[in-house]
Amino acid sequence: MPARTGEQFLSGLASDNRKLWFDGELVEDVTAHPQFAGAAKAMAELFDAQYADPDIHLMPSPADGKPVHITHIIPKTKDDLRNRQAAIRAWAEMSAGTRGRTPDYLNVTIACFAGRADVLAKHGQEEGAKNIQAYHALVRDSDLSTTHVLVNPQVDRSVTEDKQAGGEVAMKKIAETEHGIVVHGAKMLATLAPYSDELIVYPGYLLPEGADNYAVSFAIPMDTPGLSFLCRDSYARVADPHDYPLSTKFDEQDAVAIFDNVEVPWDRVFVSGDVTAYNAMQIEANWRAHIIHQAMTRAWTKLDFGFGLAHMISETTGVNTFGHVQEKLGEIWHYAEMTRSGIVSAVEGAKPDEGGIITPDERSFIALRGLMPKWTPRVSELIQLIGGGGFMATPSAKDMRGPMREYIDKYYQAKGADAEERIRLFRLAWDFVGSELAGRNELYERFYLGDSFRMTSLAYELAPKEKHEALVKSFLSKMEL
Ligand SMILES: Cc1cc2nc3c(=O)[nH]c(=O)nc-3n(C[C@H](O)[C@H](O)[C@H](O)COP(=O)(O)OP(=O)(O)OC[C@H]3O[C@@H](n4cnc5c(N)ncnc54)[C@H](O)[C@@H]3O)c2cc1C
Repeated sequence: MPARTGEQFLSGLASDNRKLWFDGELVEDVTAHPQFAGAAKAMAELFDAQYADPDIHLMPSPADGKPVHITHIIPKTKDDLRNRQAAIRAWAEMSAGTRGRTPDYLNVTIACFAGRADVLAKHGQEEGAKNIQAYHALVRDSDLSTTHVLVNPQVDRSVTEDKQAGGEVAMKKIAETEHGIVVHGAKMLATLAPYSDELIVYPGYLLPEGADNYAVSFAIPMDTPGLSFLCRDSYARVADPHDYPLSTKFDEQDAVAIFDNVEVPWDRVFVSGDVTAYNAMQIEANWRAHIIHQAMTRAWTKLDFGFGLAHMISETTGVNTFGHVQEKLGEIWHYAEMTRSGIVSAVEGAKPDEGGIITPDERSFIALRGLMPKWTPRVSELIQLIGGGGFMATPSAKDMRGPMREYIDKYYQAKGADAEERIRLFRLAWDFVGSELAGRNELYERFYLGDSFRMTSLAYELAPKEKHEALVKSFLSKMEL
């Protein structure tokens, strides 16, 4: 099957038997449920965009030449990276960068692991290597939407998984059968769970020696027996899109995944209880460089949007005449521009890795990974500081259509916009920085790629230091007595 349309995507979601729990009920059909339908429809628009803009989104499948999304590409040239980036950007623009887990996120990940399947084979997972390649082809050619779970529940972060609650909480392999492996336990968060066809588990962080039972990687359909998902509160607003332009469409949901003796068929197992192969899968396949390429392209889009919002707000109310507001606007632009520059630098500096896969130069990506969890919340703060109380002076669509309209037109106008335009702009901005969804999105930015504290320490650890030391030493040598 080639790339799917939105309608095909929705009918796939509606027809499966996933166990998705929300607020005490089992959701029968996410496409029809009031809290989920808006985001399902917005997801479908991503699929339709493939055919609306095929030059950006589609490439011929290497299997049969049929059109498939370009983010499935196993990149061999810098142009492959640039083309993949253009599609990531185009999808990100559809939600102002507020959806972190559009399918490209995992398309890039799965392509990365499949492109370097040799890493698994080298570490004794020959079958896993074949399986990840077959899985990549399946996801690509069937245009599947995937979610993933990497992190274990927060029982006690100060000890290893096996010491937490007697080793009974974090998901682990508990048996092997003729048909596959059996896993049991929970994983903390699966963003996009209601809107995915498949769940994939792979190494997000490295495991210590001896943790082999936890070192499993596999993929299964969302309605696999024994698998259930427990959703958080919904931040989707069932409202007029005028009032909540983002919350009516872009709540991706985050759900805890519970595996109750789930049997994973052998042909879906990539790593079967082997710490060495598990850790190598992440490090030697250069996943970090590829996933940050996706992540920073999305973040760049969001920062561009944030700058656009802040600039338009400041022009509307005339506050961009003040020096300190200009400084705040400039600060947002810095973040957007440094992100763009970091992406250009990583792509221009890309080189083929040991497996012949072109791999972005990850130095700027490692820096951005530590900085972005600080920059995006700061941008929200800056937009609030620029907009002030105006975010609270935003009558609803019903007010706009009601008897108060005459007053609204007079008392809500601004220097740069009539009342309706001003209200629309401020409502959009509030949904970006202040609504429940915006709060969740801020938490997402702080944590989804690991927290800034640990990622910045890691950056120090990974930083090549010889050149820097040599610079200092050349001065020290001239200071000898
Ligand atoms: C909105 C949202 C969506 C997410 N979606 C997904 C998803 O789809 N799939 C997925 O797999 N994960 C997802 N995550 C989880 C994400 O990967 C984790 O939040 C992240 O890895 C941090 O882990 P944690 O949340 O367990 O925080 P913790 O690791 O418990 O950290 C909490 C605090 O303790 C500190 N801390 C913890 N351990 C240490 C340590 N060893 N040394 C020093 N400090 C430490 C941290 O710095 C932090 O300040 C999502 C998270 C959020 C917030």
